[in-house]
Amino acid sequence: MVDTSSIKQDPTIGSALCQSCGLCCTGVACSVTVVSPSQDKAFSDLFADSIIVSDDHGDNSQKTWINQPCPAFAGNCSVYESRPVDCRTFRCALLEKLLAGAVDPESAKSIVDSILSALDKLAAQYNAEYKQFLSRDEIFPVLKRLHRDAVDKASQTAFWEAYPEYLSVRYLIEKHFDK
Ligand code: SF4
Ligand code: SF4
Repeated sequence: MVDTSSIKQDPTIGSALCQSCGLCCTGVACSVTVVSPSQDKAFSDLFADSIIVSDDHGDNSQKTWINQPCPAFAGNCSVYESRPVDCRTFRCALLEKLLAGAVDPESAKSIVDSILSALDKLAAQYNAEYKQFLSRDEIFPVLKRLHRDAVDKASQTAFWEAYPEYLSVRYLIEKHFDK
């Protein structure tokens, strides 16, 4: 979810990281993408069924968004030219640091790879337990709901025993991606 054309210092550095990552498209580093019906018309037309509209803000304003994982994500953005403005302008903390020279490309890629590897394990654990075929690009929001629904102590213990990498993914996201 990043407008690589706006990267001033070296467009290829940020672009390479984002192309190997996609964590803001799959619900790991971001939960939603804001979609403007007027500014993002092409995207809105393509994914009308996924767009959520809420006008309950007490100020006559309407909010429109999609929940991640984004339906346009297929290993990479499948609608790059039509992606919403929110995607074009978004920069996570890791990307900001990379572009500012505060982290080198290898270290940034290594952080992303650690998370992707943990997501692979989490998907495998979930699929084995529930006989599903979720990919690492689909698993995080599913586990987030599972974790949220584990309200009693026994359920929480069972969750952490089944998905120990969930904590490390959350830790890495909070440490490196959140602003
Ligand atoms: S539209 Fe493309 S860049 Fe934006 S969230 Fe979806 S997959 Fe990611
Ligand atoms: S989470 Fe950050 S590094 Fe990954 S694709 Fe999104 S903006 Fe790029």
